[in-house]
Order: sequence, then structure tokens, then C-alpha cells
Amino acid sequence: MVTQVNLVTLGHVDHGKTTLVAAISGYAARHGRAKAKRYDEIDAAPIEKTSGIAFHVAHVLYETKVRHYDQVDCPGHVDNVKYLITGSAPADAAILVVSATDGLMPHTRIETMLASQVKIPNFIVYLNKCDQVEDEEMLMQVEEEIQSLLVKSGYPDHTSPIVRGSALKALNGEDSEFGIQSIQKMMDILDSDVPDPVPYHAVDSPHQRFKAAMYLQKKEEGGRTTPFTQGYKPQFFFKTTGITGAIQRLYNGGDIDRGPIETAMPGDFVNVEVALLNKVAMSVGIKFAMQEGGRSIGTGVITEIIE
Ligand code: GDP
Ligand code: MG
Repeated sequence: MVTQVNLVTLGHVDHGKTTLVAAISGYAARHGRAKAKRYDEIDAAPIEKTSGIAFHVAHVLYETKVRHYDQVDCPGHVDNVKYLITGSAPADAAILVVSATDGLMPHTRIETMLASQVKIPNFIVYLNKCDQVEDEEMLMQVEEEIQSLLVKSGYPDHTSPIVRGSALKALNGEDSEFGIQSIQKMMDILDSDVPDPVPYHAVDSPHQRFKAAMYLQKKEEGGRTTPFTQGYKPQFFFKTTGITGAIQRLYNGGDIDRGPIETAMPGDFVNVEVALLNKVAMSVGIKFAMQEGGRSIGTGVITEIIE
């Protein structure tokens, strides 16, 4: 059976994510390895819903000689964050798109940090809009900033591959280094640098305290109408086991600053430390629902076991 690899496209708004995904799709289609999806088809991403939480996401499918890829592109930053926390299939690699004209921007940093928290194992960088930057020094400086962000975010052991290109030139079918040659390079790197995903056999041993990244549903998504504070004691559902737990610490999760916060509002992204009443089978990377009065008010992914 052909291996399927799931990819998520991350990066600041307008840095060229959708253009890149459309360029990849077009390139693969010309080689008979995809049904081409145009930019506007990808950009009009349909709504996906997991336990009431809605976000826009487009799936673009293509093949190489060795694999099948399912690359996700979300139209907005909030969609990307919701996808990382609540999306059904964990991504095997992130494609980080950074515009060489702007360098690192807030969404680049927040999404990279979150991808590391939810344990996406591989990062490949597409340094986009290289057609607009003449200065080699500037390109090198942006590349250094990207590498140091990746190291700081928890990818210290390797240097992530960076492909310089112009997604727009590639989309227009221009056969040049920054054009379709950059897409060929991406494909080769995906095939060679991203290991085959190993089927995930989580060793669930019982634990009582953990850290998690969470999204708190808005009222329209079935969530609370009022904020809560540290010490709040909802129910936590792991698969089918439900148990009361206390939110002992509350941190900002939607910003570069991950400092402690007093209250969490519906619609917020937060990081939490939870102490359950009893031990429950769990492991890093598993998702859970937070409930109050029998309805889901939040979704999270375990990022660390404390004890
Ligand atoms: P997204 O928000 O990250 O999905 O960004 P888009 O793919 O929608 O691109 C944002 C804008 O940047 C659009 O106007 C694109 O045409 C433009 N763009 C994308 N890639 C390139 C590129 O390589 N060079 C130039 N000059 N413009 C680009
Ligand atoms: Mg887009």
C-alpha cells in the first residue's frame, strides 16, 4: 500500500500559503499525479466541524512516485490554530511559508510554537516571494531567523530544509529556479526528508496531571457565555472516560507571549495545567474534550505529562 503523509501549511497571512498549495497542485497535475485545484478553489475552503468547533480547511491531494500527500490549507490564522488543536488527523509535517519580503511575523511565530507543542515531527520551510528580494544578505538573514525560531520552538536537533522560491512564478508555470524548479525541490525534500509516518500506538498509562493546549468554544459553538478563572473544575473526557479536574494554571495560548492570565474567555486559545481527581489513561498528543453540564465547552491536546 502507498504511504499517505499528512501535511499542514502554516505561515503568516498573505505570505503565499494558498499560492504555494495551488502551485504544488498544478505541478502535480501536469505530471499526472493530481487533480488540479485552482487557487480560488483552495481559497474557498469549506467548513469542517469537530465537536461543534467550526473552521475552514481545504485538502489538496497529490502523489509523488513514492507517496500520497494530503496537504491542508486554512484561509486564516485562527483556522490554522483551530486545525492544529482540534483537527482529526495529526500532521506528519508542517510546510512553513515565509515571505522573504516580510520575514518572521506574529502568525509565523505563534503557529510554529503551537506546531511544536502538538508534536508535529517535521518542518520544511518555503521562503516565498524571492522574486521580490534582490539582496542575498537579506535572504540569508531571514533564513537565520527562521532557523533560530525553529530551534527556540523545540526543533533543536536538525536544520530544517529551506527552499527558496516564488509560489506565484511556480503557479504561473514559469520554468526557472524560483518557479517550478522550487516546487520540484519541495517534492524531493518531502519524499526524502519526511520519514514514513509510524502508526501511532500510544502507550496510555494512567496519569493525573498534565499540560495542554486548548481552544475554548464560543457561545455559537456550544461553549460558555462567561469567562472562567484558575481553579475552575469542569469535566474532562478522554475517549469515553469522563472525570472532574481542576485547571490549576492558565496561560495565554493565542499569542507570542505565553504568560499567565487571570481569566479565559469563550473563543480563547489557552494553555492549561490540569489536575484530575483520579488517574486516567493518557499520553502526549491525545485529544480530549472539556465539558460542563453535559455539553462540550472546549477541546484540547495534551502537550506534556506532569505526573
Ligand atoms: P496566504 O494568505 O498565505 O494564503 O497568501 P496568498 O497565497 O493568498 O498570497 C497573498 C498574496 O501574495 C497574493 O496576492 C499572491 O498573488 C501574492 N504572492 C504569493 N506568492 C508570491 C510570490 O512568490 N511573489 C510575489 N510577488 N507575490 C506572491
Ligand atoms: Mg490563503
